[in-house]
Amino acid sequence: MEWIKGLFKRGSTSRESGLNKELTNVHIETELAQVQELNKTGVIMIPVWQTCNDSLVCDICKSFHDKRADIYEVGKRPKWIYKKTGKEYGPPLCHEGCRCWLNYEADIN
Ligand SMILES: [Zn+2]
Ligand SMILES: [Zn+2]
Repeated sequence: MEWIKGLFKRGSTSRESGLNKELTNVHIETELAQVQELNKTGVIMIPVWQTCNDSLVCDICKSFHDKRADIYEVGKRPKWIYKKTGKEYGPPLCHEGCRCWLNYEADIN
């Protein structure tokens, strides 16, 4: 199962800040749909929030950086809970100007 681990991993380099928001959104949605399909076959991939990790990242996104989804069920959208407010976010993009994306980790028991 080792190969699956690296399947959806991307480099940790920051994305182009000028990257079209809509394109990013479509990309995340497409990827999530693929992962959900994979999950149905018994291979559980957990979404992990990734930020550009620079000074422009807001407090909310920063608190989610490198964090697995707090709520994640097959067939449902992943959610991350912002501890300060208890509000649920996700998946990226969670707000205007958000540049975050998702990585996926295999959940191997
Ligand atoms: Zn943010
Ligand atoms: Zn963000």
